[in-house]
This record gives sequence, C-alpha cells and structure tokens, in this order.
Amino acid sequence: MTAASEARALLATLTRTASSGEWSAPGRVNLIGEHTDYNDGFVLPFAIDHRTHVALAERTDATIRVASTFDAAPVEVALSALPDVFPQRDGHETVPEWAAYPLGVAWALVHATGVDVSTLTGVDIAIASDVPVGAGLSSSAAIEGSTAAALNDVWGLQLDPVALARVGRTAENDAVGAPTGIMDQMASMLGRTDAAIFLDCRSLETTIVDLGFDRAGLELLVMDTRVSHSHATGGYGERRASCERGAEIMGVPALRDLSLADLPRAEQLMDDVTFRRVRHIVTENQRVLDTVRALEDDGPAAIGALLVASHASMRDDFEISAPELDTAVDAALAAGAVGARMTGGGFGGAAIALVAHDRVGAVKDAVDAAFAASGFAAPVQFTVTPSQGARRDA
Ligand code: ADP
Ligand code: MG
Repeated sequence: MTAASEARALLATLTRTASSGEWSAPGRVNLIGEHTDYNDGFVLPFAIDHRTHVALAERTDATIRVASTFDAAPVEVALSALPDVFPQRDGHETVPEWAAYPLGVAWALVHATGVDVSTLTGVDIAIASDVPVGAGLSSSAAIEGSTAAALNDVWGLQLDPVALARVGRTAENDAVGAPTGIMDQMASMLGRTDAAIFLDCRSLETTIVDLGFDRAGLELLVMDTRVSHSHATGGYGERRASCERGAEIMGVPALRDLSLADLPRAEQLMDDVTFRRVRHIVTENQRVLDTVRALEDDGPAAIGALLVASHASMRDDFEISAPELDTAVDAALAAGAVGARMTGGGFGGAAIALVAHDRVGAVKDAVDAAFAASGFAAPVQFTVTPSQGARRDA
C-alpha cells in the first residue's frame, strides 16, 4: 500500500465524510552546507522522493482531530483551545509528541495570519508517510509541510511557500520544542524535480540549482548508519556556542560575515578548538558557493572533491563525525563513488555518496562489507531522487 492510500484508508476510519483533498510534502537531503544554517550562512538541500501524505475531511464542529499511522489513537483539540495547548511547557505536555507537529502547525498558522479561529472550519486529518524517521531525512519537515499546505488551502489563508516554511519552523521550535533552523522546511516546501535549493539562511533568498544527476548518469546514495551517539544533543549545543564565541571574538554578527581571508587573523585571536570550529563554518560556506558554481558550469560530476573536503572538515575541524560515518564515506570512495560526506547534525545518522549509476551495487556492497569488518550493525542504504516540494495531490 502506498503512503497516499494509507492516509486515505486512515481517514475513512475517522469519518464517513468524503475527503476534501489530499496533500503531500517530502523529506530532504542536504547536499552540502552543514551547521552553516545557524551561522546565517549557505545550504544546498534538495527534496526527495519520500513523502508524507495528508488526507483531510471537513467537520461540522470547530474541532481539529489528527491521526497518524504511527499511533492508534487520534488526538482531538477544539480550535479555540489551540492557544492553551501551545507553547507546551516541559512536564505539562497535553498532547503526545507526534501530535504536536500537525497541531503545532495549525496553531502556528493561526498565529502567523491572525485569523479569527471562530471563522475556521473543523477538520479531520489523517497522516501516513514513507519518509524514514530519524534517518536525517527530515520526516519532521515533511509532516509540517504537508499539514501546512493542507490547512492553508482548506482555510483559505493564502500564505506563500516561504511563509508556510516559517510556520513549520515555528511549530517545530515553539510547539514541539526542538531548536532547529529553517533549512528543512524550505527544502520541503520549495523542492523541484532534479534540482536543489540554494538557500541564504540570513535573507531566506533562494535560487533553484539544476542538479542534472540523471543526465550525468549519477545517483545519490543514502547510507543510514542507524546509530545515534549519546552526545548528539550536547554536542550540537556546544558547537553553536563555539560559533557564537568565534563571531564575538572577530566582532561580526555571525560567522557568515567572515571569509577565507579572515582565517589567519582568527587563528591568532582564538584558542585552537574555537578556531577549528570557525574554520569549518567559513570553509563550508565557501564550499557551498563553489558547489553551486561547479553544478552550473560543469555539472554534478565536478562536485566530488567538494563533498570529500566537506566531510574532512566535519571530521577534523568541527569534530562531529563518528566511526560509522567515516567508514561509510571511506568505503564508498574506495569503491568508486564520485564524492561522499556525512550529512545532518552529526554524531550518527546518515552519509551520502554520489555514485555512477552502474557502480551503485558495488558501492553498497563495499559499505556493507566495511561495516561487517568493523563489527558495526548493517547500515540501511537506498538511493533518492531530487523531487517536487509540498503540493496538493487530489
Ligand atoms: P527527522 O530527522 O526524521 O526529522 P525528527 O526527530 O526531527 O527526525 O522528527 C521525527 C518526529 O516527527 C517523530 O518522532 C514524530 O514525532 C514526528 N513525525 C514524523 N513523521 C510523522 C508521521 N508520519 N506521523 C506522526 N508523527 C511523525
Ligand atoms: Mg527533523
């Protein structure tokens, strides 16, 4: 059964009312630009062909009810009660965590538009997804984007995709309580077939960049290590603090405001660890710009060295890699991948490799063999295709 038909079937268990429509939004992979988002820098994600689907039916009362294939029990809230539910306070959560994503989107939409809730139609929302959770593919942005697109249409709010991305981020930050940037939501809302989104995280300006994987005979392989090392959360906070310290020492609002030419001065002013954190961000921003230029001028086969340099910088300077991620990257490269790097926050999660179509099997086998030889649990590997962002499907 496809996720779309699962959503439809789940809706039929909630209500006899015919569905008003179906919407979906994708997960994403970040091609390059890691930890640059909260430094006001550049990222280059693309939407993938794994999507979260929403089937929605209107109700006759002013209630919003959400259901997901994740959880047998639907969750119901009066529309007028949304401002009492969110923001949730630690220890006083009134809805299960998964339900805070779609209900948080409803709350954030009301907040963003100032619409009078008494004018809104009640809805039943059924959610099903084929985006793997916690694999670094942003199932969270997919559930936010699909719900936001659906409610925006049904409630006639007329927000544009960037405004809906902001709504998704507000839901994740303030309703769920996860401190994330806006990259995932922008990629999920704005994705295009066979293209990446170049995003300036300061201005939120975006440019669509052709990837041309297919024409070049290349595929993007995700190598999910399925490990999450325990210091992931603390490590993230520590890296953010180092970046803020680095910017303060250099007298700039954010590390985005530094260039490669500033690095010698930075090295003189900072301790070694802070300097290496700063060097990762500054060089990574430059690599995103170089990747965009290489894609435009020479096509995707030309970005391999930039992906490899990005991985080395995260491993050695930012120190967020893990043995499993290094093993995946090294094995993929040794088996002939054009480029490979860890992707996402680090300390586990997935790595990606750009691989010629006829080498995909060999690379997967090599990565499996390297994991087995190191005594790691088998990774989960699959290819993804750059795909369209959030949309109405029916
Ligand atoms: P990811 O890297 O996949 O985005 P997150 O921890 O940010 O990982 O988000 C995953 C969480 O999002 C899940 O634990 C769940 O609470 C929620 N979620 C994602 N997809 C769904 C879905 N289809 N149904 C219900 N909840 C979902
Ligand atoms: Mg997420």
